Amino acid sequence: VTELPIAPNQTRPDDVLVLGAGLAGLTVGWELAAAGCRVRILDREAPGQATSRVAAGMLAPVTEAEPDDPQQLALGRAALARWPGYAAELEAASGIVVPLRRRPTLAVARDRDEAEALERFAGIRERLGLPVERLLPSAARTLEPALAPTLRGALAVPDEQAVDPRVVVRALAVAAGDAGARIATGPGSAVEELLHDGTRVTGARTADGLELRSEAVVIAAGSWSGRVPGLPGRDRLPVRPVKGQLLVLRDPQGPGMVERVLRFGAGYLVPRDDGRYVLGATTEERGFDHATTAWAVHDLLRDGAELVPGLLELELRETLAGLRPATPDGHPAIGPSPGLAGLWWATGHYRNGVLLAPLTGTLLADRMLGRPTDEALQAIVDPARPALTPTPEDARA
Ligand SMILES: Cc1cc2nc3c(=O)[nH]c(=O)nc-3n(C[C@H](O)[C@H](O)[C@H](O)COP(=O)(O)OP(=O)(O)OC[C@H]3O[C@@H](n4cnc5c(N)ncnc54)[C@H](O)[C@@H]3O)c2cc1C
Repeated sequence: VTELPIAPNQTRPDDVLVLGAGLAGLTVGWELAAAGCRVRILDREAPGQATSRVAAGMLAPVTEAEPDDPQQLALGRAALARWPGYAAELEAASGIVVPLRRRPTLAVARDRDEAEALERFAGIRERLGLPVERLLPSAARTLEPALAPTLRGALAVPDEQAVDPRVVVRALAVAAGDAGARIATGPGSAVEELLHDGTRVTGARTADGLELRSEAVVIAAGSWSGRVPGLPGRDRLPVRPVKGQLLVLRDPQGPGMVERVLRFGAGYLVPRDDGRYVLGATTEERGFDHATTAWAVHDLLRDGAELVPGLLELELRETLAGLRPATPDGHPAIGPSPGLAGLWWATGHYRNGVLLAPLTGTLLADRMLGRPTDEALQAIVDPARPALTPTPEDARA
């Protein structure tokens, strides 16, 4: 065992070092600090500046779930059930209002192919016992008058919500800090090496040269989680980046043009409370490239305006790209590493990192602190499941 010097600002090892201050790292840091652990959260950027600030913020377990993946649906529905209480707790802890948009999602069809796909979607959800309501185009346009008259059909999906992830990040950073977590961000806090003695983690070394000792390390580094320097090959979780581009539009007249989350084909439009609209998103396997491209702006606006022609009148405020952290089976990894002792994961949230934020903190803290927990959900997110065994290429990456 190598004895490492304790960093000048550390009088004794931390209980937990959390790598990453995105939604995953912050929710874990808050939960553990509130439970009395000495927590330090490290990020090379300001909180939430990687993928979490890009998210559209849909809390959409039904419209996001693959029909052949009941585990994803179970996880998503459990997370959604936690959201109203979580938002209230977060507001109370941070003093920042975290508004939830609670109107049903409208899934709409622009042509015959999409109408058939919508009918298949409705049939599958009904067989699963999930509520959906078929709407005539006229009824959909009564609800959302900005929809194009050419609309072919619509479904109302109740029980889905939306939240602004940037507000959640801000509130989580305040709540975690107030609960006692120390959050160190910026280039000097980039983790340059995970420290371990071959059998258990001992801490991390940062770019500013600090060797921070800790009893446990939680890797919540999003798409970079499998590549934290110093992680032994056998512990490299196979997390890959899946690029998504989206646009933020703004109505200078304020909110109200569209009130509900609209889903269409592979796209969506998510209204915010202040007159902004998020129009997304692409799904691209392009490694760590996160450039925004002209074709994405073109395609997103073309598809969105076919559905809501008024979008073309809005201000284009942001073009964004983010890297969704994806695992081979699409479920997150939340729990202990099967390799190094003291190493924990909170990553792989793919398209659902906002939705799953409340559950991520609870499930990980339950395991770390030995609290009673939901074993069925723990099995879905277990980092030791066979789908997450690193391949030889993962181990070398
Ligand atoms: C276009 C798009 C739309 C989305 N829409 C939704 C949605 O509507 N609903 C939903 O639920 N989810 C959505 N998501 C998914 C969601 O954004 C992610 O699942 C979530 O943000 C992942 O959070 P994270 O904390 O794991 O990762 P991140 O936010 O990427 O945080 C990881 C952090 O780790 C830090 N880091 C990495 N390596 C190091 C290192 N070596 N040292 C120090 N720090 C390090 C990074 O700087 C980063 O801040 C969307 C994603 C995209 C791209």
